[in-house]
Amino acid sequence: MNLYKKTLLNGFIKLAASLALLAIVAGIHVSSYADYDIPSYLRIGLFYGANEKNEVNLSSENGFFFGTYSGTDFNQKKSSAETEITVKFTDNSIVVSANGTDVYKTDDPEKGLGVFPTVGGMERRLKVDGIEYRGGLDFKRVNDHNVITNVVFMNNYLYGVISREMSPSWAPEALKAQAVCARNYAVNNLNKHSEYGFDLCCNVCCQAYSGTRYETENSYAPVDDTANQLLTYKGEPAQLYYSASAGSRTEDVKNVWGNSVPYLVSVDNSYEDTANIPNGVWAGSLSRDEATTIMRNKGYDIGTVNSIRVLETTENGRVLKLEVSGTRGSKIFEREACRTVFNTVTKSQQFKVTGNGGSQSVPSIHTTDGNNNSELKINEVVILTADGRSTLSSKSLFATNGVNRKQYDITEGSGENTEFVFEGIGWGHGIGMSQYGAKGMAEAGFNYVDILLHYFPGTNLENAY
Ligand SMILES: [Zn+2]
Repeated sequence: MNLYKKTLLNGFIKLAASLALLAIVAGIHVSSYADYDIPSYLRIGLFYGANEKNEVNLSSENGFFFGTYSGTDFNQKKSSAETEITVKFTDNSIVVSANGTDVYKTDDPEKGLGVFPTVGGMERRLKVDGIEYRGGLDFKRVNDHNVITNVVFMNNYLYGVISREMSPSWAPEALKAQAVCARNYAVNNLNKHSEYGFDLCCNVCCQAYSGTRYETENSYAPVDDTANQLLTYKGEPAQLYYSASAGSRTEDVKNVWGNSVPYLVSVDNSYEDTANIPNGVWAGSLSRDEATTIMRNKGYDIGTVNSIRVLETTENGRVLKLEVSGTRGSKIFEREACRTVFNTVTKSQQFKVTGNGGSQSVPSIHTTDGNNNSELKINEVVILTADGRSTLSSKSLFATNGVNRKQYDITEGSGENTEFVFEGIGWGHGIGMSQYGAKGMAEAGFNYVDILLHYFPGTNLENAY
């Protein structure tokens, strides 16, 4: 669909959606339940694995406590007024030094060494190699890895997360919806990295978190105003997913990850201003050689790529099956793999691809008998004529409803593709909340509960205690 038509259609859907949603803007309703447990503190991995650090410099305005963490409980053993310290892992110890002198040490790296700023209550802060974090740090050797973990109050963690996951300049109700998503994610993923001894990492693998670094004055209210709130489904915290943008509709999770979740279904996303946001509408290309190299590097031995074809799309226009053919064979990708295989150019699963050789230039039509849908290339359509059955004899097929006429053309190409052009809509997996859609809804006057219940239909917002 061209962009102009899409914009017109969006305008219409927007109006219809406004009327439908108006009915539920009666007020914020949060049910109160006591069954959910939101942990007060989280263990967030800062340095581990590929980013392991054996030595860091810490600073705190009023000195430090040293001791041991057991889970998220800190057992204080010694204090120091030093404001600049170095913590170093050695083979069989962890040592704290200041100005070249040891001030604390443990000979049991597996039990670990905890560091906590002495003053500040919940607002205790320290800097790790210049980057500021709230809460304390746990240095520990876990399964032969040196791991540095930030033990941080849940809401303080969420201040940092929403500053990274959504622009703090956006409408407060969108930020509140984001805060609930981030809290639900944390609650559902405790111990995700138990092999390293912490709950969540600080990267996009979990949720991006850089301590206080990107916080602004707008980062706090969305978290504080939704404190203790979780979105639930049938008595359990819901698994909430979000991506930057999704075009006119979000996608059903079954068309992306293969599983079915009652509240991760396709919903209208017409408040998203897709045409005017970063990567809302995108295009990119791959040469035949680039596509061939990507396939080879990913382990698909199909020779030189000569065609990339969309075989099947979802009702929402996302690619369900993508066929990549080469001189030695072909490979069919399904669901999310259709987006990720060429992710150097594809920003979403919603795209079309054309080869410059024109091998894909036969349009298809879809028919239904009420139960089954079938798709036919227009040159395969059987046409009844006065002389009997025939196939399309011209290069064009016209369809008309008596008022408007639409033309489908078969265009000729050399058949040889040396370049593939991808044109698409949306940024990310397209499941759950569209962040730009949430922004649009918030700007149109919807509150965060409306936004969450729209993108996650059938869920409830509840107070954990
Ligand atoms: Zn992670």
